[in-house]
Amino acid sequence: MPIKNTPEENAILFVWFNHYAGVLIKTPSKTLVIDPVDIRSRSFPNSDAVLITHEHYDHLDQRLVKEIQKNTNCKVIADPASTKRLQHLIPIEKLIEINPGSEIHLGEVSIKAEKCNHSASNPVTYIITSEDGVKVFHTADSLPFEELASIGTREKFDVVFCTVGIAAGTSPESGFEIAKLTKPQVAVPYHANSVAYQKKFAEILRKEMPRTTCLIPELNKIYQVSKKA
Ligand SMILES: [Zn+2]
Repeated sequence: MPIKNTPEENAILFVWFNHYAGVLIKTPSKTLVIDPVDIRSRSFPNSDAVLITHEHYDHLDQRLVKEIQKNTNCKVIADPASTKRLQHLIPIEKLIEINPGSEIHLGEVSIKAEKCNHSASNPVTYIITSEDGVKVFHTADSLPFEELASIGTREKFDVVFCTVGIAAGTSPESGFEIAKLTKPQVAVPYHANSVAYQKKFAEILRKEMPRTTCLIPELNKIYQVSKKA
């Protein structure tokens, strides 16, 4: 499942690898793994960073994060509650706690944390901007919230991941609200164990936001998304 190819100019590659928020993102220079659970550590032989959004079992597997970190010597960026659980497993100089509003640079790639409307201790969402300026918004398990509109206007997202199931209170409708507020070029319904939920999201999107592309990802398949010309 590792991504061997490098994205074309002004593009990123991504893979959705579990039924939750597990996403692998590859920019021209960096490989980022978000919320790895239900997968083997050797699926990520070249990680530059692991990003954790919150401490729930379907997002944080401490042992797995430890293995990936050990194999690749990558950084681990996590919300405060997850940082606490990882502090004795990850070398201190590699573990970075992040809070909404803060930004970390990995070379020319930017990782910014924002608020997340989900019932965990201090959950975050992540805005990843590639060296070419491709903008990805990983909204973790978030339900819609007002500030998403201003974040969307500010960032002009190319891709937004929208939770459509499993997490408390989420549905194709709540996922659609995320897309409606953030106005991406491409909306990706994820965090679901039934394709029916993703298709329902696509149906609402087609009707309400016909100019937004819906990309229903298959698990473990590589997709490329390019920056809006
Ligand atoms: Zn979840």
